[in-house]
Amino acid sequence: MGPARARDLAHAGLHTVRDLIFHLPLRYEDRRGTLPVAAAAAGVSATFRGRLVGLRRIRTRRRSLSLVRGFVEDASGRLPVVWFNRPYLTDRTDRSDQFVLHGPVRPAKSGLELVNPSCERAGEAVHGDRIAPVYPAAGKVGPAALRRILDGVLRQVDLPREVPETVPAELLQRYDLPSLGEALEALHHPGADADVEALNERRTPAHQRLIYGELLELQVALALLRLREEAEPRTRRYRTGPRLRKLLAEIPPFPLTGAQERVMQEILADLARPHPMLRLLQGDVGSGKTIVAALALAAALENGHQGAFMAPTELLAEQHHASLARLLGDRWRTVLLTGSAADAGRRRAELASGEARLAVGTHALIQQTVEFQDLGLVVIDEQHRFGVAQRELLRRKGDRPDLLVMTATPIPRSLAMTAYGDLAVSTLDELPPGRTPVRTEVVPARRRGEVYRRLRAAIEAGERAYVVAPLIEESGKIDAASLAEVEARVREVLTGFPVGTVHGRLPFPERERALRAFAAGEIRALVATTVIEVGLDVPSATWMVIESAERFGLAQLHQLRGRVGRGAAPGLCVAIHGKLSDTARRRLEIFAATTDGFEIAERDLGVRGPGDLLGTRQAGLPSLKAARLPADWGWLVRARDDAREMLGRLDAAALTSWRGGPLRSASAPSSARSSPLRSPSPRSGEGARG
Ligand code: ADP
Ligand code: MG
Repeated sequence: MGPARARDLAHAGLHTVRDLIFHLPLRYEDRRGTLPVAAAAAGVSATFRGRLVGLRRIRTRRRSLSLVRGFVEDASGRLPVVWFNRPYLTDRTDRSDQFVLHGPVRPAKSGLELVNPSCERAGEAVHGDRIAPVYPAAGKVGPAALRRILDGVLRQVDLPREVPETVPAELLQRYDLPSLGEALEALHHPGADADVEALNERRTPAHQRLIYGELLELQVALALLRLREEAEPRTRRYRTGPRLRKLLAEIPPFPLTGAQERVMQEILADLARPHPMLRLLQGDVGSGKTIVAALALAAALENGHQGAFMAPTELLAEQHHASLARLLGDRWRTVLLTGSAADAGRRRAELASGEARLAVGTHALIQQTVEFQDLGLVVIDEQHRFGVAQRELLRRKGDRPDLLVMTATPIPRSLAMTAYGDLAVSTLDELPPGRTPVRTEVVPARRRGEVYRRLRAAIEAGERAYVVAPLIEESGKIDAASLAEVEARVREVLTGFPVGTVHGRLPFPERERALRAFAAGEIRALVATTVIEVGLDVPSATWMVIESAERFGLAQLHQLRGRVGRGAAPGLCVAIHGKLSDTARRRLEIFAATTDGFEIAERDLGVRGPGDLLGTRQAGLPSLKAARLPADWGWLVRARDDAREMLGRLDAAALTSWRGGPLRSASAPSSARSSPLRSPSPRSGEGARG
């Protein structure tokens, strides 16, 4: 290919032959077999083989449009053909040559017409007369160009012989899967007798091979991370006997739900094990994760260790500090550490000396100046807001402390096994008693007036409301117009009632003042950006309006909605939307149809597809190219079990020398090497073989 095309491909991340080989078709079109032109029918795409006759350029009034017209002729007759903007085709008038044309047949003034078909010399056909792979565009390089490029690659490289295998032969045999090279060959160049339906449904052995291989590599990496943690013994002892259990039973001001009880048992069992706890606690909004964290912390504190609790926003840290101090403060000294908390120096000194036993805070906790005397348990709330790096920084403030991370964005089980595969997972799948599900309405913007009239009536009746506006951040600058607009509207509608505003750029004390006033009922409506998304607990708020709902992700909408209906009174959430794309429409449909966070998360994964798995990017894991979740759940389970079996045979020395290779190499662009097909790092190939 020429340098311009190579640049375009590089721009799209395709630098080497290896990159191209892993650029897989999205779907396939069955263009096998040619049709006599006399059999052409309107409305179908078909392949024809014949001579091109009477080709001529036609001038049009529009400068940007040029036409070529002519005929394709075979023994059965001739069919008019028209091409747009391909003037060079008039050179192909060699009367004797046979061409293969593939394209749609449309009704025209004079009968039928073949419109803008691909046009190739017979015998060289890449686009027609075969099962044609349809590639996802790579930047400027479209599917047809990619088909031609990959065809060139396959002519020069013998994939089955030259692509290094990554899955042990034993496992390929177990599932009767082809080698990596054979699989890639079959996907780029399906044989003439291949099953198109199976190809399009990703059911071919070639697809299965890639899906399994990718998931296996990921699972091996995750299992290694976990094994490495478990290879080192915990550094502090726990007594988790009846005395502790009696103490823990006295702390909650309400009976625990069954799910809370079960998770507590899982955590206590972890603390009694010989290696540190690494546990993810997932539970829908309002499922009561805080009390579980409080009890885990109490266990650590009662055993003489310190605890740290980190939350993503100051507001949330404040709220948690207040409730943890209420639950644990009588027994243990608890301090708040945030960027703006006064007296930070003294509190840090108290933590370093061990006088303070529990620190609650924001990122301020991971600052270098923060030291603990003996940090035994780290809890991270809304963990998807943090990166793995931050979680590890906090852990390093102690000597291999236990870790409990919590998330209110329920993680589909398929994802829990990929992005969070190094963590054990506990689930709160039960809400505390007495909640009624929030009612959800999805309303187009033209009916906004009606929504706001109802809002006013609700406020007059004494209810409290959030109005959420999107805040768009572009190139570092914040476009506050949407927020200001919404605020003006709300103030006008609610004339006579006090209205507050909160957003991320508001100085913390002001933000906090507004939220306090809202919680206390002095402010009846709060106009807000998504700063209120996580954790905020104002049980008496019942109404929520979400403006420009199409701009929010499904998980985010669910989080927002979780702010209402937290008390005894039923909640209502009205999502107002502008123009909808197809995906946005599907998102809002799902949003309205269910309030079950787990279902939402699982379906959200379906909507967003594999390239955009929640949290995987933060977690530093490769994004999946071939596998799709949750559809490929079965292969995921097999890959996990096989990875464990494989690693079960490893000895400890191999483990401690491992530095996380596959995690990095799997997503790194391959660099130029002697062979264009070599894996970027030998580890990604040999590592899998153990
Ligand atoms: P989340 O899981 O979203 O963090 P919280 O821990 O904030 O949920 O709990 C939500 C609300 O439910 C809080 O007001 C909390 O006091 C209350 N709650 C939690 N567990 C129970 C329970 N077992 N019985 C009654 N109320 C509970
Ligand atoms: Mg919470």
